[in-house]
Amino acid sequence: MASHNIARDRFPEKILTWYDEHARELPWRSQGGERPDPYHVWLSEIMLQQTTVATVGPYFQKFLDQWPTVKHLALAPLDDVLTAWAGLGYYARARNLHKCAGVVWHNYGGQFPGSEDELLTLPGVGPYTAAAIAAIAFDEPAVVIDGNIERIICRVFQLEETLPAGRPVIKEHAATVTPKDRPGDYAQALMDIGSRICRPKKPACDRCPVTDLCHVSGQEIAEAYPKKAPKKVKPVKSAFVLWIENEKGEVLMRRRPEKGLLGGMMEFPSTDWTEGESQPSEVGQLKVELGLEADENVQAVAQEVVHTFTHFQLKLSPQIYQVAADQVRPSNQLQWIAPTGFGDIALPTLMNKVVKVVSKGQGSLPL
Ligand code: SF4
Repeated sequence: MASHNIARDRFPEKILTWYDEHARELPWRSQGGERPDPYHVWLSEIMLQQTTVATVGPYFQKFLDQWPTVKHLALAPLDDVLTAWAGLGYYARARNLHKCAGVVWHNYGGQFPGSEDELLTLPGVGPYTAAAIAAIAFDEPAVVIDGNIERIICRVFQLEETLPAGRPVIKEHAATVTPKDRPGDYAQALMDIGSRICRPKKPACDRCPVTDLCHVSGQEIAEAYPKKAPKKVKPVKSAFVLWIENEKGEVLMRRRPEKGLLGGMMEFPSTDWTEGESQPSEVGQLKVELGLEADENVQAVAQEVVHTFTHFQLKLSPQIYQVAADQVRPSNQLQWIAPTGFGDIALPTLMNKVVKVVSKGQGSLPL
């Protein structure tokens, strides 16, 4: 390993001493040395993927109030779970959450397995989450690596490896300092230090418990770690999105296919999301698919809806149509929904943006 050496035994000791005094109080953490409920740890870890602690707090409480055990969650209708999840983004996580609850209830009698390897087999549980649950809920000395921990390890050892290719080397270094004693507290301590002290910008090295071990402590170069590979530019996709209103003011919504992006969520029908300019002829094709004929009263909205997904950026051009309700036969896939009912369905963030832009374009707010 090409890295700087540190006094490896002193590292976990200093981290745990700091945790005893400075641990954050979070709704999913146990108090007074008790071992936390694996259901709480799992739920919080899934919610925290790509979301901040402040955002997750109220959602975590809402889920526990509605589904106090993994059994309750497993037996809940998927739509209820998706609706409760709305606003947390990345709906595949909510679908996997529900699926995972089902597996834990049906295959494990409602008890989460305690080993990292078994946890890894659960739906929606990746290497980080499996290690975090094993360490925090079961005291397994698993090597937990999230973005915060990665940053601390890279700085302390001054690792020159770039992300993401260098992750295995970063993990090897992290493993050399992970303690057998209190691995859960240790992992949570690093998460806290990463978010409050060893921040991406302006790390507070003077308050850091491992400042005397760290190779970049107090230096400007600290911010340069972890080193990152140059960013790729995201492709831009575009499409037309149709806001189709009937004489009662209801809007036509379509359920997306179960598999893929925003799987199973309701959307305003749109043409295919493709790279390059969308062609108006695609709208004609979509209308045929929806069973629509008349297109009087078409109104284009000047403002685009822009949304960034992990792998691409999407630009939607809204068009407003007025049609008679009897032109469309409602089904499980196609439904007329009054704008006042949008709050009751799991509307993805992208579709909420469509509502906002169209409302502005119409000069009114339907919600
Ligand atoms: S000393 Fe500074 S750079 Fe090093 S781990 Fe602590 S906060 Fe991060």
